[in-house]
Amino acid sequence: MTDHTSRTTAHTATERTITSSAAGEPLDVLVIGGGVGGSYAAWRLLTGEVADDTSGIPSDPSARRVALAEASHRIGGRLESPAAPGAPELHAEFGGMGFTSHNTILTALVDDVFDLRAQPFPRGGGSNLFYLRGERFTADQLANGYEVPYQLDAADRGKGPMTLIVDAIERVLPGATGYSPAEWKQVQADTIFAGRHLREIGLWNFLLMNMSAEAFAFAHDATGHFFEVSNWNCAQALPWLLGDGNASYRTLTDGYDQLPITCAKRFVDAGGLLQTELAAEGIAANDDGTLRVSFGDAGTADARRVVLAMPQRALELLAPSSIVLGRPDLSPAVGSVTGHRVMKIFLAYDTPWWQQLGITDGSSSTDLPLGQCWYFSPVAGQGNTNSLLMASYNDTLATTYWEGLEGGQAFVNPAGTGPFWSAQAPSALMVEEVQRQLAEVHGSVTIPAPYAAAYRDWSVDPFGGAFSTWNVGADADAVEAVMLQPDPTVPLHVVGSTYSSDQGWAEGALATAERLVTERLGFARPPWLPARAS
Ligand SMILES: Cc1cc2nc3c(=O)[nH]c(=O)nc-3n(C[C@H](O)[C@H](O)[C@H](O)COP(=O)(O)OP(=O)(O)OC[C@H]3O[C@@H](n4cnc5c(N)ncnc54)[C@H](O)[C@@H]3O)c2cc1C
Repeated sequence: MTDHTSRTTAHTATERTITSSAAGEPLDVLVIGGGVGGSYAAWRLLTGEVADDTSGIPSDPSARRVALAEASHRIGGRLESPAAPGAPELHAEFGGMGFTSHNTILTALVDDVFDLRAQPFPRGGGSNLFYLRGERFTADQLANGYEVPYQLDAADRGKGPMTLIVDAIERVLPGATGYSPAEWKQVQADTIFAGRHLREIGLWNFLLMNMSAEAFAFAHDATGHFFEVSNWNCAQALPWLLGDGNASYRTLTDGYDQLPITCAKRFVDAGGLLQTELAAEGIAANDDGTLRVSFGDAGTADARRVVLAMPQRALELLAPSSIVLGRPDLSPAVGSVTGHRVMKIFLAYDTPWWQQLGITDGSSSTDLPLGQCWYFSPVAGQGNTNSLLMASYNDTLATTYWEGLEGGQAFVNPAGTGPFWSAQAPSALMVEEVQRQLAEVHGSVTIPAPYAAAYRDWSVDPFGGAFSTWNVGADADAVEAVMLQPDPTVPLHVVGSTYSSDQGWAEGALATAERLVTERLGFARPPWLPARAS
């Protein structure tokens, strides 16, 4: 299967390797982890303007030696967008899939710096479905006061799930939907609820103490996911939940992973050293203050500065053989977030069967274990009607349901669908069961057999979850600052979305990388970045 021609690939080093460079001068910076955070950090560190030289990084970019090491065979991490078999313009977004107009760094990169092809990301129309407690109703019906199968109080009847959540929040914080970032900072610092600071209580606690159990059950079931309303740090969760209310959504036409791939390509084009299939296994300090990173049998590399652009689980795997990371006094910071288990199953069909029901691209949701499904109809000029369905986007408890169906006979993808689809094929039983649940959700429509299927559960190493949320009690701002350089005497830094205020968004990874580069390493703010963005 050929990929879309507009897609860019990042070329890895062929002549020099990161480990062989240890024979000469140490690298100025070694970035470890080729997700969006690491690829962006590497590109900025190689090409950015040094405003003050406290970091020791040469001010002349052509004199800088910056390298990026990635454990897997590909750049992108939790952005992974293989083309759909038979419909190469449709990308199966197994990780992140869309961004909002509030994602300032990302929007500037896409529109102004890299000029990537972007398009609106539909979230669903009036015919898209809810299937809850065995009842099927459309978004239009809900908007027109459909009586949902929950024992709602009179004042809650006719309200949608998000309105119920907003009402619960505004009972404590009137006008919260309109708070500015500065106002949220104030609220996070000052608000006491039930005798506790907001960060000392969980979101689930807060919501259930401000809405009826049935209203909460409806709001929870209608999202199709649990993590969003789970018991994570309320001070961080509230602005996160409300933050996207008035945002517009877009996606990258050639796949979301084009963002990290383009960062990595620009990095390589500017003389950066990129090597994939190179996993860091430990970090030690040399006598001269540089750091030595070991890559197992592949050797070692010395660097004056090391940036770890990876999630909590990857840090935990490195910790036993690494300075700083393994220290007991850092464990509260590393452990201040929890990774959430999330799984997606994609199916390809030869027809967009959902259109018979008037369903448009976007999502439907259910309290069945499939959680959410997202429709991707053929694009204009595609030449066939092949279509893509994110047949299940499920999390936490529901993910264990699908785990129980793994193994046994695999679903057979047709020849030529490419290595990704073969490697990620679900069991035939998983496909049969997701088809059964889709039929239950959609009712009176015959669902054809899919011709291709793949799934991805992000709880595997080194990810430990699709995204993390701050634990109750964590002081997120303080931890984010600590992780940028856990020990002021050691040139070791951590960036990525995990310890950011935009968890679950690629923007969080970019924002921490940008903070490191400008606030800690003395680089100038890039001219393309709008004021107050990071
Ligand atoms: C299912 C799902 C849905 C999402 N939805 C959205 C969305 O709609 N919009 C959005 O913006 N974001 C979304 N996100 C979140 C977004 O994908 C992440 O926030 C972002 O990709 C994280 O980037 P990162 O660089 O911090 O980490 P990662 O992408 O995890 O990158 C870390 C990299 O480090 C590498 N690595 C780990 N250990 C080592 C080692 N020892 N040596 C070398 N390399 C190593 C890994 O292989 C990986 O490539 C979603 C994520 C998932 C999984």
